[in-house]
Amino acid sequence: MKVKNLVGERFKERPSDCVVDSHALMVRGGYIKQVANGIFSLFPPARRVTQKIEQIIREEMDRIDGQEVLFPVVLPGSLWMESGRYQSVDNTLARFSDRNGTPMVLGMTHEEAAVQLVREYANTYNRYPFMIYQIQTKFRDEARPRAGLIRVREFTMKDGYSFHTSQEDLEKYYARCYRAYERIYARAGAPEVIAVKSDSGMMGGSVSHEYMLLTDIGEDSIVICPDCGYRANMEAADNIVAPTRAEDAPLTKVATPGCKTIEEVVEYLKGDAVHSAKAVVYQTNLEDKFVVVFLRGDLEVNETKLTNYLGENVHPAVVTEDSPVVAGFIGPVGISPDVKVVFDSSLKGSNGLICGANEQDFHYTGLDMDRDVPGAAFVDVAKAFTGGICPVCGKPHLTISRGIEVGNIFQLGTKYSKSMGMTYTDQDGNSQYPIMGCYGVGVGRLAASIAEASHDNYGPIWPISIAPWSVEVCCLRADDAQTKEISEKLYNQLENAGIDTLYDDRDIRPGAMFSDADLLGAPIRVVVSPKNLANGEIEINTRDKKIQVKVPVVEAFDKVREIIATLQAEIDATVPESI
Ligand code: ATP
Ligand code: MG
Repeated sequence: MKVKNLVGERFKERPSDCVVDSHALMVRGGYIKQVANGIFSLFPPARRVTQKIEQIIREEMDRIDGQEVLFPVVLPGSLWMESGRYQSVDNTLARFSDRNGTPMVLGMTHEEAAVQLVREYANTYNRYPFMIYQIQTKFRDEARPRAGLIRVREFTMKDGYSFHTSQEDLEKYYARCYRAYERIYARAGAPEVIAVKSDSGMMGGSVSHEYMLLTDIGEDSIVICPDCGYRANMEAADNIVAPTRAEDAPLTKVATPGCKTIEEVVEYLKGDAVHSAKAVVYQTNLEDKFVVVFLRGDLEVNETKLTNYLGENVHPAVVTEDSPVVAGFIGPVGISPDVKVVFDSSLKGSNGLICGANEQDFHYTGLDMDRDVPGAAFVDVAKAFTGGICPVCGKPHLTISRGIEVGNIFQLGTKYSKSMGMTYTDQDGNSQYPIMGCYGVGVGRLAASIAEASHDNYGPIWPISIAPWSVEVCCLRADDAQTKEISEKLYNQLENAGIDTLYDDRDIRPGAMFSDADLLGAPIRVVVSPKNLANGEIEINTRDKKIQVKVPVVEAFDKVREIIATLQAEIDATVPESI
């Protein structure tokens, strides 16, 4: 490919609307163009990266006996009504009517379509197990698209669905898939992707893992124990705290004029947040019923755990004069019976606490949970925190890292086979529901995350396995006959050898040529210039500058091949064996 013919423009200035580097570099490098909020077209460089990622994924899915299929993007609403998700999923699911008024949806995930495809075929036990997958467009009307390809509304996903006749068989396959995912990220050259236990959310099911690429710009928080290796998504991480103990003191009402936040109160009373019970107020989405969570003053509510416990969604409360709570002064003693109260386990067995007195401008000191709130039930609804206790090894060294979810795997169970009436006849002639697993990877998000993890100010530093082009030949003086001839020969030689090569023979300044090359990110750059040719040499560099050599012209082609092999071998060395 000649750079002068490459569709798309590259430019110097960072676009003002790009908050993360990968987004800025992909716009500057002519990889992507926004069509609408969260909807992008891909120029050739981005398409080449995603194609390579898709091929890696395809090979790994085939290696674990996956069979590639293709479901439609547009699905009848009736299929989603069967599973119940037509009703239960929010506006992220795009619903519309066709010309006959039939409800339709745009596929945001394809469990229903997978069951629909195989429910007649897989009606007897000897057709199991099997896994089907597709690499296809999803549409999700996300509330907050952000960060270029990292969170978009339309994207390509590899989604796989496996079907089993026993939980053991699902678990065996799940382990193979877990490993296949590790291989995918390693082969794509993604640094630091870790699998974490996750909350299954709307997918249902119990065991699931998310693959997180660690980077500061990630939306997810991951709780990691450096001592025993425990790791979990913040949404699913248990929070363990020892009771807060102090000297016994009576429950005493004290004036705290105007002190509404826990910080203001403890400062006014010269206490500290650990020795306080703060209240966080929510309302249920369906009935607007008030829910007050009491937890240790320095902790935060984990809304996912709270929602799971309540079995319904909540939103931060809108407190007015008519509400059954006094904003800023809410406490567990004497709280209105119209409020649902949840005690976080951080308060269990604690005493000597400051808390609200359910009266304007008053708090209590000396709250003793056992004495003053007898019979309270405690549940874990707080966020794990830095320095918190590991739920597995018990050491107080938890750390919190940020990450981007680049894939996830679920043990779904029978949620979809049951709701959609998919059965098979077992060996004894009984009718059974198959057990399912599902497995997703976002292709564009993975590409962008790798660029996020591996770039400099000048452009992405693509791993050779997914780079849009492996090599770029820069002809620094196209007007010089010898330079031009040698460049062209090398370019043709590389192309003929099946090496994807970009060739820049534009009559522009070397600086401009190199900035474009930096943005396009070919891992190997071959620079042909009259200056080096005067010594009979060609310069070969890697994009990360780890290799910078000059070789005799006749050796250039072999040297490039050798560097490609070295870079590929470095990646291969990180790929675990498949199972
Ligand atoms: P998230 O929590 O980030 O919204 P999710 O839990 O909704 O992700 P899944 O439904 O499991 O994700 O989708 C599988 C994979 O598809 C994710 O791991 C991610 O790589 C990708 N993905 C999901 N939503 C998006 C999106 N809006 N834009 C780009 N990729 C996405
Ligand atoms: Mg999502």
